Parts: sequence; structure tokens; C-alpha cells
Amino acid sequence: MCGIVGYIGNREAYPVILNGLKRLEYRGYDSAGIALYDGSDIQLCKTQGKVSDLEAKVEKSITSKGSLGIGHTRWATHGVPNDVNSHPHYSNSGDLVIIHNGIIENYGSIKKELINRGYTFTSDTDTEVLVNLIEEIKKQEDVKLGKAVQIALNQVVGAYAIALFDRNKPDEIVVAKLGSPLAIGIGEDEFFVASDASPFIEFTNNAIYLKDEEMAIIRRGREVKVRNIKGDKLVAPYIQELQLNLEQIEKGGYDHFMLKEINEQPSVIKDTYRGRLLADQGIIKLGGLEDYISKFTNADRIIIVACGTSWHAGLVAEYIFEDLVRIPVEVEYASEFRYRNPIITEKDVVIAISQSGETADTLAAIKLAKEKGAFVYGICNVVGSTISRETHSGTYTHAGPEIGVASTKAFTTQITVLTMIALRLAKVKGTVSQSDYMLHLRELEMIPSKVEKALQEEDNIIQIAEIFKAAKNFLYLGRGYNFPVALEGALKLKEISYIHAEGYPAAEMKHGPIALIDEQMPVVVIAINSNHYEKVVSNIQEIKSRKGKIIAVVTEGDTVVKEMADYIMEVPATPEALTPLVTTIPLQLLSYHIAVMLGRDVDQPRNLAKSVTVE
Ligand code: GLU
Repeated sequence: MCGIVGYIGNREAYPVILNGLKRLEYRGYDSAGIALYDGSDIQLCKTQGKVSDLEAKVEKSITSKGSLGIGHTRWATHGVPNDVNSHPHYSNSGDLVIIHNGIIENYGSIKKELINRGYTFTSDTDTEVLVNLIEEIKKQEDVKLGKAVQIALNQVVGAYAIALFDRNKPDEIVVAKLGSPLAIGIGEDEFFVASDASPFIEFTNNAIYLKDEEMAIIRRGREVKVRNIKGDKLVAPYIQELQLNLEQIEKGGYDHFMLKEINEQPSVIKDTYRGRLLADQGIIKLGGLEDYISKFTNADRIIIVACGTSWHAGLVAEYIFEDLVRIPVEVEYASEFRYRNPIITEKDVVIAISQSGETADTLAAIKLAKEKGAFVYGICNVVGSTISRETHSGTYTHAGPEIGVASTKAFTTQITVLTMIALRLAKVKGTVSQSDYMLHLRELEMIPSKVEKALQEEDNIIQIAEIFKAAKNFLYLGRGYNFPVALEGALKLKEISYIHAEGYPAAEMKHGPIALIDEQMPVVVIAINSNHYEKVVSNIQEIKSRKGKIIAVVTEGDTVVKEMADYIMEVPATPEALTPLVTTIPLQLLSYHIAVMLGRDVDQPRNLAKSVTVE
């Protein structure tokens, strides 16, 4: 994971890099560092901790700062998070300095070889090995930095987005990418480098997104030369105009990005279906889908691959697709799928879901599915991301930047896209009646106002959070479409409050988890009007008989569960297939408020990072 930033131009590099690192902190935040060229030498400062810790350290240690620099915020893969392992890393001579996002898998053998040649290492990172390999090649082959980087990268296996410069040639930054994202912002006589465009959005709207196996040499006041790492061919860079604006990446008056993103759901769900869903005319049109509808309708089965919250969205889709489209669906953890020799044929359609579009395991699963001849469809939020390029076709969720590490609006917009796909296919296949089809279209269009309504429960939810914030464990139960919502509710609580929580299908409780229930155990039950309502009511009775505390998510106006539950959180009524879009809202708010009350770092929970770009 990790976030990388670089600057070369006329302004002071330090504030640009520092601010950029703060925006990229969602990518990793166990340590941070910066290397600046001050006009005569490199000034390097790094520390375990957050970017704010780096800022404090820089204020004390670096005085002259210059107009070229690179910075890094880390999520450790090789070596514990400490000062020494933090980036940037020097080469042995002290001439080269590098930042890196990714993993060099064959770093062990390269390190041995370099040690034999007299190199020494201060850190445990793979990154320090890479910078010394580049230095060794530069010396041995007597080539310029760019060429040395290229030769070195042809020797390494793994994933990287790197930026480095040479103390003796402080008018250029060399960058390269494979597997990890890297954008170059093009300003007037100045250039920016970053893992995504957020660090430079106030300076320029023009950016080059490097493709895998591309590198660039960025020269002060001159140009960006992009090359192919393997073929050594110059590539004409494609400069994109960015759609991002500053407001989207700021907190906009909310205490946390997560709360902002929870509250954005009514508007981003609308953005997701805008222009794609015309309920009155009975039309759903998804650009990426239209040309490939027969791939889906002729498929033997659909396999959904994803990780984390996206996997839960996939589970919701399993219900919708089987219910409405009558195609068998399997939902797989991408990390398991790719390593278990799965049986995939050309008659399979694989749907890959990832907010960032960079999730390493999902990406590997896509490659495997493509090799076996399956048609692969991507659902991503980040435009231009690797997964969106690696899939045969796909749909963007248009949720806008999601910065809080715990995913919220990405989940509901993924479900919105999956629901639209299912309805479109059901219509073509004739597996849904016209009246049901129209009902779902109209109801989907009403989801934003229903989510808005669900959000109004916040005060009530704050009181419930207050009562249960000290609990050590939580159970989340749901059935049918709301079983994945129970899993997602439990995951949200774990991620940001560090309270142990488990999600279960409500009926499965009898087969084990019921043993956990006593008067200390809060049980969140999704008990909305549905085909399973009576059964869930019985499950609630079973918990009550064992003195568990019931917090129920109910449909507005419910009287039966209201009588039985200790606390209720109401959501508006909607057809069962759409209920996950509203039932998930109170669960997001409950975990958010518990975490805030416990003083947790909601947007940057411990040990996590936003996009998991390593295996
Ligand atoms: N492998 C590098 C390290 O451990 C970079 C980590 C990353 O990008 O996640 O420092």
C-alpha cells in the first residue's frame, strides 16, 4: 500500500509534499518520511508514526528545504514500522534516495548478491535492496539513472510504484510503475508525482497515469519522458483532464471522512444510477454491459471475486442474481480463488469488485480467470484504476473519493450497480415480470430518499451506541438478503472500534453461536419486513430466552419486533431485493459512533490501510 508524493518545480517542495502525504494517509500510516534537495544536498527526515509526527520532526530538523523532493507514508510489508524502515531509503553511497509502494518479491536473492559485492543494509525493507541494485547497475554499466532504473526493474519480480532522485543530478525525478498506482501532475514548469491525483488537485487538472511497466523521467522545467520498461520504447503520454475537485477530498465540516461518506450516500447512489436508470421509461442502460449482455445470459454461472466489504457486496449480488436472473452465482474471496486451482471455463462470467480497483488479490484472480478464457467484468470506483483496465468491460460506481478506511459509500454504490446489472439481465432473459421489473426500477430511484430517512435515526443510534460502547463482543444476525448486511455490520464494528463482532445467518445461530449469548451480549438483528420475518422473530425469541440484548433494525411502523427488542433502529420499507441499501445505514452509524465514543482513530484504524495492493 503506502502513499508516495514527489515535486519538482519552482515552488517550495515541502508544503506540497507534506499536504499531499496527509491526503494519501488513507493508504498507509504507520510511518512517514521525506527527502528534499535543498540546493546543495539531500535533507532527509523520517519517523515511525503519522504524517503529523513527521511534520513535528521536520520542523525541528530541516531548515532549508528547496524545490525538489519526495515523500512517503508507509504501510509496512517488510520490516516492522520503525524509523529505520521508514522511507525514503538511501543507496550505500548516499547519492540515490527512493520511495516505494509495493513489494519486491525476489529482494532476498538480490540482497545476498549485493552483500557479496560489499553492500550493507540498515533496514529490513525490500525497498533498500532495490535502490542499491539501481546504484550497482549505474556504477557497473556506467549508465544514467533512468537507464539504471530500467535495467534494475527488468530484474525484479513484484509490484512497485517508485520515485527516486540522484544528489548529483538534482534536476530530475525518475518514476516507474508496475501493479501500484502512479500519477504525474503536469503544471506550468512544475511536475507532481503521487499515488493518486489528490495531492496535486489544487495545482493542476492535467495528469498522466502511468501504465504498468512504464517509467518516466521528469526534468525540472522541461518535460516528462515516458518509456516502456521492457521494450525501452518512448511512449507518447496520454494527458487526462481530472474530474476531481478539492471539496471531494476534504471533510466538508464533518468530524471524520467516514461520517461525511456515510452522509454522502443519498447523493452518490443517485450519481451511480444517473443517466443509467430511467425508471419511468423502464430503461436501464449501462455502457459497459450493453455489448456483452449475451455473455451473461449465455453463462453457465457467474463467479464474483472480491475482498472485504466488496465481497459482502458480492454476497448481496448472489441473492439478487439468483432471485431475479436465475443464473447460478458463486462468491469467492479473491485470495482463496486464485490459489485453489478453480475450475473456470469459457462459459463462466467473472465479476470482480474493488473500490480502489487496485486490490492485489482481486487483480490476480482476474488474470487467472482471463487465462482460463472467462469473460471478466469489473466494478470499481476509481476511474482508470488497474482493475478497470484489466477487465474486458465494467461499470464504475461513481461514488467519488472514499477516504475513510472503513468502506461505506463504496458498498452501497457497488450494490446499486449490481442491482442494475441484475435487473437489466432479468429483463433480457425474461426472468422477471414486467410489473416486478417496473416496481424495482421505481423503488431503486427512491432509494436515495429512503437512505436519507434512515440517516435521520442518528440521534437514536447515538443513544444505543452509548449504552453498548463498553461491550466486548457483538453478534450480528440477518437472513436472506440481509445476511451479508450482518457480515458487513460486524466488519464495520471490528474495523473501527476494535470490538470483536461476528455476523451470522440468523438461523445458523442455533448451530453454535447461541452458546455465546448471555445478558452481556448485544445482538444486532436485521428484522425488517421480508419473506423471513416470522423466522427472524423466532430467532429473536430464542435470544431473549437466553437474556441476550436485542438491537433490532426494523421496518418503519413495525410493532411486533418493537415489543420484543430492547432497542430498535427504523428504516423505510422497500422491496426485499433493495433492503441491503437501507439496512446497512444504521449499522454504519452504530459502529461509527461506538468508535468515536471509544476514542478510536475512525478514519485510520490501526493496522489497516485503504487499498490492499499487496497479497
Ligand atoms: N515493501 C515496502 C516496505 O515494506 C513498501 C510497502 C508498501 O508499499 O506497502 O516498506
